Amino acid sequence: MKNIKLVWFRNDLRTRDHRALYTACEHVAQSTSSAEMGVIAVAAISSKQWMLQDESKSRVQFWLANLHSLKDELAGLNIPLKLIHAETNQEIPQQLLRLAKQYNVKALYFNDEVPEYEQQRDQQVEQLFQQQGIGCHRFESDLVLPAGSVLNQQGLPYKVFTPFSKAWRQQFIQSEQGPLPAPQPLSSKVYTAIETDNIPEDIGYGLRLGADWNKQIWPAGTESAHRKLQQFVSEQLTDYSQLRDFPAQTGTSSLSPYLSVGVLTARQCIAGVQAYSDDPEWFYNQWVTELIWREFYRHLLILFPEMNRWKPFKPDIEKKIAWQHDKAKFDAWCKGETGFDIVDAGMKQLLETGWMHNRVRMITASFLTKLLRQDWRLGARFFMQHLIDGDFSSNLGGWQWSASVGADAAPYFRIFNPMRQADRFDAKGLYSQQWLDLGHPGDTNMDTDLLGDALPSDLGQRPQPIIDYAAERRRSIEEYQ
Ligand SMILES: Cc1cc2nc3c(=O)[nH]c(=O)nc-3n(C[C@H](O)[C@H](O)[C@H](O)COP(=O)(O)OP(=O)(O)OC[C@H]3O[C@@H](n4cnc5c(N)ncnc54)[C@H](O)[C@@H]3O)c2cc1C
Repeated sequence: MKNIKLVWFRNDLRTRDHRALYTACEHVAQSTSSAEMGVIAVAAISSKQWMLQDESKSRVQFWLANLHSLKDELAGLNIPLKLIHAETNQEIPQQLLRLAKQYNVKALYFNDEVPEYEQQRDQQVEQLFQQQGIGCHRFESDLVLPAGSVLNQQGLPYKVFTPFSKAWRQQFIQSEQGPLPAPQPLSSKVYTAIETDNIPEDIGYGLRLGADWNKQIWPAGTESAHRKLQQFVSEQLTDYSQLRDFPAQTGTSSLSPYLSVGVLTARQCIAGVQAYSDDPEWFYNQWVTELIWREFYRHLLILFPEMNRWKPFKPDIEKKIAWQHDKAKFDAWCKGETGFDIVDAGMKQLLETGWMHNRVRMITASFLTKLLRQDWRLGARFFMQHLIDGDFSSNLGGWQWSASVGADAAPYFRIFNPMRQADRFDAKGLYSQQWLDLGHPGDTNMDTDLLGDALPSDLGQRPQPIIDYAAERRRSIEEYQ
């Protein structure tokens, strides 16, 4: 008689620091049963679902490539990987059950995901499995501290980041647990008996294994992710706070795609900082603060579930804004043709690489919502459709922050002036030059004195500015007030 554990991989394509996999393997190793025991891994290919959820092609292709690497890692642990093909989430519970029955599975293991939609899918799976007498083991593995667990002294959620981050740090120090190692390899009996599935070359909707994303910047696989992490913490971390806002510099880690598909965990990133830092106060490092932002947005999704349904954290503010629904302006923004260099450079970077520097994400999002007064949901969807690091909670949080309708959001009167932002963070115009191919750095930023009534017209090949900055700024502030 067989006793098989099934581990379901989603956006957690790794073998290290994977609670569900680690526990399933431990249960097998500790078992005294005479039944033949082992672990099977499973992943669902859901191309239609991914398209419906605005997943970008580059992200899906990156996910597939990492699934391919995971297959090899699992082989080293004697764990076969099976695939189910489910067009949408609705098909997943039955497909998983069919697989479980085929291999006489006795228990299912998986790590929780935060967004409500994924939680609903998992509840359906759990219910179905329980009805069939198959146990389900769910784990917290995506966040460093369990989602929703950082609360104030009254047991209420934090709505502002700074006190949240203080409480988060205290809680982390008290409950500090390092990342888990990979499990020990299992006996090869089950592995040799069950064939590993091949990852298909073509999964429909133009999504292909091995298709293009920037493989030089983001080579697939855990080893690449950890190499990049080590390089960042050993060579760049010290200068992070000075350089992180300058988009022409390599000042940030660009690890977000790995975190997004779960090849790397935030816990591993924090352990990396600790390992390379001589500073006893390492924990107050700015980079750790950025990782806490990721945790903050995940906590908000759990504690304020209506946010999952694209509702703003501050509906009262949103009520005051009359979104303009101007397709021509939105299209110009999408294509990077607004005539504002730093905005257009950011959008071109997004379109060409699937990634955009954080400072420029804030500038482009502020431009769309505060100056073009287009609904933040449009921008958030467009970002998701193009980002290789698309992440529902961080994207939602970032967009609501930029539109001043989120938790601890930018105040309504903070409207990024794209020219001033360029002067401060891309003074030599190197970033704009790189993405707009202007060919003459230094001349790329519009003269701030020319703002307002007299719009600059001599911009060579560049489109004319689509708005009068000063006038739109005035209008927006009146509306928000
Ligand atoms: C409008 C908008 C949309 C965004 N959409 C996404 C998204 O879809 N996916 C995503 O991962 N991040 C998103 N961010 C956050 C941030 O821009 C990216 O995480 C960051 O640019 C990734 O680059 P990095 O890995 O070099 O970051 P680093 O500066 O090296 O930071 C390390 C990690 O910390 C986390 N982090 C950093 N800043 C933030 C932040 N402000 N909010 C949440 N987490 C953060 C990320 O996981 C990041 O990889 C968005 C920000 C804005 C303003």
